[in-house]
Amino acid sequence: MPDLWMPGVTRLPPHGPRKGLTMDGTGERYFTWHTFEADPLHLSALAGAQALNAAGTTPTFCLHPLTGDLVQMLSADVGCYTLANAPGGRETNRAGTIHMQVEVIGEAAHPFTDTMTAAGWATLARLMDFLTSWGIPRTWPAGQPAATAAGPHNRIGPGPSGLYGHSQWGEGNTHWDPGGIDIRRISAATTAADPDPKVFARQRELVKAGLLTPADVDGIDGPQTQAAWRRYMATLDDISSQLARLIDRVDTIPWQVWSFPLKDKDASFWVRFAAGGIKTDAEGRQVPVVVNAPPLDTMGASS
Ligand SMILES: [Zn+2]
Repeated sequence: MPDLWMPGVTRLPPHGPRKGLTMDGTGERYFTWHTFEADPLHLSALAGAQALNAAGTTPTFCLHPLTGDLVQMLSADVGCYTLANAPGGRETNRAGTIHMQVEVIGEAAHPFTDTMTAAGWATLARLMDFLTSWGIPRTWPAGQPAATAAGPHNRIGPGPSGLYGHSQWGEGNTHWDPGGIDIRRISAATTAADPDPKVFARQRELVKAGLLTPADVDGIDGPQTQAAWRRYMATLDDISSQLARLIDRVDTIPWQVWSFPLKDKDASFWVRFAAGGIKTDAEGRQVPVVVNAPPLDTMGASS
């Protein structure tokens, strides 16, 4: 099972028995976005979470778009108290198997994605990855939440699994938060790095050098690629220093250095030597007798 509580996030469960609702268990996985309807310059995530707990409308999370602070009040597998629920009919807070909700400290009239800081986006990316770990699709079944109170509001919730604005749930809903937020940018937010063509090229080189396998080539500069690259550079440094020593001693060894096809970042660590002799080839030309030397570390060890 994924984490019930997001690692590294402040926890503030409500006092008393309201530790989350039992879900319907009908299979859908939902996440609902709200705005707290407060100015983020005047309310912290923690104060917002305390206020929501005190009001009895606890969501799973309270997110501050400017500081990036995130508070978790309920575990991931229980229902919230945040959607208004008309008597009878479907209990929307219990709808599905997973239904987490967030109150973003902001106002529907000023979409929080317009003013969110880098810190805010970084936390939102972690939150999105957490939702993905719970199998919540990064899709918006009801489309773009309306940007004004006048709507029109596509209040189809509970519909297919995915991300919803509060304004997109049914049950006599009159709310229009979170307003016209940038749903594409939210869906794309992730802490996983984008593949980088330069990293692809470097990884292919590391495969040639035998330090990565073809399956490791993903264009992402992760710990494995970084470790392989450090080994690769250390090997190059080592070869350069051995080569320098060899060149210093070239007058004292019986062979003549014929050529150094070694290039920086070349994966083939071979140096070619003339074996000291000259022979006549099939066309009658005088050519040096060239052999492939063993790898330089072997050469160095024997000296
Ligand atoms: Zn709301």
